[in-house]
Amino acid sequence: MDADCRSTFREAEADPDDDGRRLAHGLALLRAGFRVAAAYELSVASAYGADTESLAAVVFEDRQGEAWQLLDPEGLFTGVAPLTPDARVRGALVERDGRTLPLALLAVERCPRCTNGETGCERCDGRGFDRHELAHRGRTCGQCSGNGTVLCEVCSGDAILVGEIEPGEGCGHGAIELEDVDELPFKRWSLARCTTCGLAGVELEGGSRRFACRECGFFGCACASV
Ligand SMILES: [Zn+2]
Ligand SMILES: [Zn+2]
Ligand SMILES: [Zn+2]
Ligand SMILES: [Zn+2]
Repeated sequence: MDADCRSTFREAEADPDDDGRRLAHGLALLRAGFRVAAAYELSVASAYGADTESLAAVVFEDRQGEAWQLLDPEGLFTGVAPLTPDARVRGALVERDGRTLPLALLAVERCPRCTNGETGCERCDGRGFDRHELAHRGRTCGQCSGNGTVLCEVCSGDAILVGEIEPGEGCGHGAIELEDVDELPFKRWSLARCTTCGLAGVELEGGSRRFACRECGFFGCACASV
């Protein structure tokens, strides 16, 4: 299957402005399972005028079987998309119901208690002032400093439960670049990516790093424990 992609890649590179070649490459990528690269190629082909119904087929399912949509494939590559596995595409984000996640984190166990690392302050019922001092509303709640929310106890504010996964052989992930993702609501970690192998990682507050599964590139994947 990859052989198909290699040949469509070469053909698209030879004439990158040809919508038919970009479409053919996109479809070959899709068949081979490189869905992010496929979505990019299909979006390019579409911009060049090709009929790309297949773009709608590029969705990603999470553990619950819910479908997430890839966000803005146009910006993910420059030139013709190489055969890059989904989880290793820098900047690949998925969205569902207004929530955005890096694709590499799609299979991760979401915190069962909170959505963004915070929960309502129980001491003040989320009001921000001490409920025993209703007569003096200027007095802020000592528990949440008046925010009405506190750091989630289950996930310590990460909002996801990222397992401890050691980097694999072959790449020590020496050089890391942090991926700037404005859409992320999470507060206590940053998305990192190895500049050599493209594997995604998270850098937690304090600088410690955890990397995704070296086999599939995802956090929380089924093969992570193998
Ligand atoms: Zn409070
Ligand atoms: Zn939580
Ligand atoms: Zn690496
Ligand atoms: Zn895996």
